[in-house]
Amino acid sequence: MTTSSSPTQPAPLSGVREAVRRTPAYPFTAIDAPIKLDQNESAQDLPPELRALALERLATQSWNRYPDLHADTLRHKIAAFEDWDPEGVVVTPGSNVLIKLLTELAGLHQTVLSVQPTFSVYTLESSLLGAKTVLVPLNPDFSLPVEALSAELRGGGPGLLFVTQPHAPTGHLDAEADVTAVLDAAGEGWIAVLDEAYHQFSASDGRALVRGHENRLSLRTFSKAWGLAGLRLGYALTSPALAAHLQKLVSAFNVNILTQTVAEVALEHPSYVRERAAQIIAERERVLAALKHHPVYTALPSQANFFLLRTPDADTAYRHLLSRGILVRRQDKLPMLGGCLRVSIGAPHENDALLAALAEISP
Ligand SMILES: *Cc1c(COP(=O)(O)O)cnc(C)c1O
Repeated sequence: MTTSSSPTQPAPLSGVREAVRRTPAYPFTAIDAPIKLDQNESAQDLPPELRALALERLATQSWNRYPDLHADTLRHKIAAFEDWDPEGVVVTPGSNVLIKLLTELAGLHQTVLSVQPTFSVYTLESSLLGAKTVLVPLNPDFSLPVEALSAELRGGGPGLLFVTQPHAPTGHLDAEADVTAVLDAAGEGWIAVLDEAYHQFSASDGRALVRGHENRLSLRTFSKAWGLAGLRLGYALTSPALAAHLQKLVSAFNVNILTQTVAEVALEHPSYVRERAAQIIAERERVLAALKHHPVYTALPSQANFFLLRTPDADTAYRHLLSRGILVRRQDKLPMLGGCLRVSIGAPHENDALLAALAEISP
């Protein structure tokens, strides 16, 4: 018997769903550069004494045993740190995994609603699932289009709403009244996500907007202010009822022993996070002030650990910075962001190098 295809045989890989086949892969190419300002990571690792403590603790653990099923110790430490009910805390390897699971929870055959431009992972997950993606353009000043979003929320759905505060990739922080208006328009039907990956850099805190509403969540991460992107850990703060549903989608033992242990050590000594966030904010304001009168480029205000740099030609600007050893992220293909590069705030000497490279640009 041959296995050559006959009219009755499915085409090669036709088992891959149509939605997956037509979704482009996450657009990221790793490039080596001495100054890495392209991923909004922390320029600093966990403080050395905490690293040593975590390694010591890891040495006493049994790596041959499965970790705690739902990382209960870690969840309780997060709950204590955030003043949240432990039953409403869900942890995953990075908040990107929570975005995927929430899309599964609320997006399949339903709507995923966000703004445009938005964080690419929301639209990627929605596209992979074949959900209906609805993106409402931001206002020209990058503020939330409260009326248009509210109209979508009242007229459509249910499904999943993503609001990012401060917003990515613009760095804009909205008035709390505007965020509240959008969340209120979501009623109790929509699953309403407040992605707060960068909240430490804006001193904003959406917990009060989420608390007491069964359908709302705050997503937080150890990847940015905590300086632990390599560990992969994110969490949701939500109601016990929604957490119980979300937890069904989390695969068993999904946060490994190493990650649980290091994060627990960090949570026992969290003061470094506040100190570093304050340093990043000071550096951000220094960099933005230095670029205020740049003759060619415009640095846009930001409440995050990155900012947008608007240039006449993103490709030329990107290559100039790379030639000076500085890697940034192009965002110029996104709606409203023509000519824009996204630049992370790094260590002071890295920011100095950035400013020196930008000072070479003249009209
Ligand atoms: C960086 C980032 C995250 C965090 O992703 P992790 O998977 O936790 O590393 C979440 N949301 C936004 C908007 C981000 O920029």
